[in-house]
Amino acid sequence: MTGTRTQVVVVGGGQAGLAAGYHLRRLGVDFVILDAQSTPGGAWQHGWDTLHLFSPAPYSSLPGRPMPHQPGQVYPDAAHVVAYLSDYEKRYELPVQRPVLVQGIHRDGPLLQVRTDSGTWSAHAVISATGTWWRPFVPAVPGRRLFEGRHLHTVTYRAPADFAGQRVIVVGGGNSGAQIAADLTGHADVTWATARPPRFLADDIDGRALFDTATARRRALDNGQADTAGVAALGDIVAVPPVRAARDAGLLNAVPMFTRLTAPGPQWPDGSITRTDAVIWCTGFRPALAHLAPLHLRDRHGRIATTGTRALDEPRLHLLGYGDWTGPASATLIGVGRPAREAAREIKAILGPGHRPQG
Ligand code: FAD
Repeated sequence: MTGTRTQVVVVGGGQAGLAAGYHLRRLGVDFVILDAQSTPGGAWQHGWDTLHLFSPAPYSSLPGRPMPHQPGQVYPDAAHVVAYLSDYEKRYELPVQRPVLVQGIHRDGPLLQVRTDSGTWSAHAVISATGTWWRPFVPAVPGRRLFEGRHLHTVTYRAPADFAGQRVIVVGGGNSGAQIAADLTGHADVTWATARPPRFLADDIDGRALFDTATARRRALDNGQADTAGVAALGDIVAVPPVRAARDAGLLNAVPMFTRLTAPGPQWPDGSITRTDAVIWCTGFRPALAHLAPLHLRDRHGRIATTGTRALDEPRLHLLGYGDWTGPASATLIGVGRPAREAAREIKAILGPGHRPQG
């Protein structure tokens, strides 16, 4: 397909893109969602085998349609999320085209031109909702390239059976690091290395409480009250059942980060070296924004300045779902609905009531 005109192009058909589509549809805006995946579900299709949500289903819902309960599970698994997202886009007849890889967004007079591997779309506004999974981050640790074992990242880890009997180092003190280290216990000889001591949330705090805390923070800020620091003040790691079980069994003990990698394995602060088969980097992600490069919006720290979801230097562009900088809790299922609604409303206001695409 070439040269298609529409009012809005949404780039990315994961949960953030679908939430945007839901609100655009309600406002009567013409739009298309372009998604690089062949099948629905965004990044949830690619997680490790035992990945579960850290919130119960009702606290993991997109606008309009509550996530159904998964029988036998308080915390639904990733397959349940994929099924929910597939159903969501069908139910609301969201116009998702896939697989379509957006390669670059360019200014074209009053329009933005969206160039893809399947042709070009022109639109009055673009919502970028491409997530972070596609840009795994690994820190620049000395000697990284010298290590002769396997390097993996959260995105390439699948199952503990792949490491049976091996010595594995899991790096990272966040949820992925804790969950993958817990997953490996009993299968591999695991060492969990973190830059600072891991901060577990209290056992009764899961995504429900995190969302409530994030909401309270947003309300306080909206009312001009002092910043409570939100969920960051509570800790980093949700003690989901497998993590709690491994921790309580004394199997989840973090050690301070190694100083460098050598050919056989990491070297620790005391100078000792552990012969190691694999290092799994659970060290986070960066926003997948390569398609925005032609707009030259990044500052010298590599960030795009936003007000709400709108790019400050390109008001026709909205960024959705990447993190708190694109709306409080916008990188969660339940949190993305509100910034999606705000983005859709702002775009509708720019288009005006009678605006129809021309051409
Ligand atoms: P994605 O799901 O990554 O979807 C983006 C889509 O855009 C993808 O389909 C991708 O292929 C497509 N895309 C990317 N680039 C292009 C391009 N150039 N052109 C076209 N398409 C493109 N949140 C919760 O609410 N609860 C949880 O329990 C939870 N657990 C998490 C556990 C892990 C390990 C991780 C990493 C995240 C977790 N999150 C959780 C956070 C968040 O919900 C997920 O990261 C979610 O996948 C983000 O959705 P998204 O739509 O922003 O991005």
